Amino acid sequence: MDLYEYQARDLFAKHGVPVLAGRVAATSDEAFEAATELLKDGDLVVVKAQVKTGGRGKAGGVKLARSAEEAREKAEEILGMDIKGHTVHRVLIASGADIAEEYYFSILLDRSERRYLAMCSVEGGMEIEQLAAERPEALAKVPVNPNVGVDAAKAREIVDAAGFSEELKGAVADVIVKLGEVYAGEDATLVEVNPLVRTTDGQIIALDGKVTVDDNARFRQPEHEALVDKQTENPLEAKAKALGLNYVKLEGGSVGIIGNGAGLVMSTLDVVAYAGEKFGVGPANFLDIGGGADATVMSNGLDVILGDPDVKSVFVNVFGGITACDQVATGIVKALEILGDAATKPIVVRLDGNNVAEGRAILNEANHPLVTLVDTMDGAAVKAAELAAK
Ligand code: GDP
Ligand code: MN
Repeated sequence: MDLYEYQARDLFAKHGVPVLAGRVAATSDEAFEAATELLKDGDLVVVKAQVKTGGRGKAGGVKLARSAEEAREKAEEILGMDIKGHTVHRVLIASGADIAEEYYFSILLDRSERRYLAMCSVEGGMEIEQLAAERPEALAKVPVNPNVGVDAAKAREIVDAAGFSEELKGAVADVIVKLGEVYAGEDATLVEVNPLVRTTDGQIIALDGKVTVDDNARFRQPEHEALVDKQTENPLEAKAKALGLNYVKLEGGSVGIIGNGAGLVMSTLDVVAYAGEKFGVGPANFLDIGGGADATVMSNGLDVILGDPDVKSVFVNVFGGITACDQVATGIVKALEILGDAATKPIVVRLDGNNVAEGRAILNEANHPLVTLVDTMDGAAVKAAELAAK
């Protein structure tokens, strides 16, 4: 999950990374109040669009203000703005810094090398992709051993490689150690600060922050739950998550997919994409109901998928292993009872594996008008695609 700048800032502060005081505002009145508070300790505030994309400065989403009234006006301009397809719902009002120099620092997960990679430059502020392309020698890249992390020695190596002047190295390295603590302590896969600045009075401050946390670590990061943005989260994904289902909405498809086991669901997506070509349709989602596909799990899964207006047909593809096909079939029948009138779309079922004959017999016996039983995965994919195209 990518975080907003203000959330990244909070994590920075928690780990002792120097940041400037700031408050989030959703309206221009709130911006006025926030600026009033912040201007008690200074003569400048920055109004910054909170969107999960970079280049806000260039897009006009970062503006300076010297009075609370001016902050209100700037917030008015920025709120509702569209930045690279992201609507601005909130602004961060932060104390303004007098910038002497801008630097760049990031640490990220380097999957191919199975380690972390720190990148640092004394030429910050500009887009890092541009710097990397135009002047790669100005961007230091330092591998980090995940078992050690960013200790004082590693931070020293990073500031040396980036070419900071001797008198700055100590202060910058201290901040880099703390950013390494954010990275490790929050189970992040990216921590980026652009710009990291030196102010005219000599402080090193993280002026912008971009953090991606690893959702797979959510079980040991309960505080990250509160960072999920309900406003922009897909409501079906939120519902599925609340039900404990492994669901991912896919854009552009109309065949809802339910299967047991991630591997089977992935191959189901492939066969539906393939079969769907002829009909101009594709898979609408990934939903793995896992090993214990009982009636409740099945009805929850069907409920989520049928709630997707893009879905025109559903393909239930189950291979009976630990869960036998007769239990799954019973689950489907009960799920349709539970859903009642909420079940409105055709459902193609393919069952195979453990107790398949019993499972098929149960579905044939139930003879539900929405359910079509197909013996093979390919055949079922074609049928589901055909029904979705109708
Ligand atoms: P981004 O464009 O989305 O990366 O947003 P940033 O937070 O990095 O802000 C863009 C630029 O605005 C920075 O590189 C700074 O030059 C400038 N800026 C941001 N905050 C301040 C501040 O407090 N004071 C001053 N003078 N400039 C700032
Ligand atoms: Mn930036």
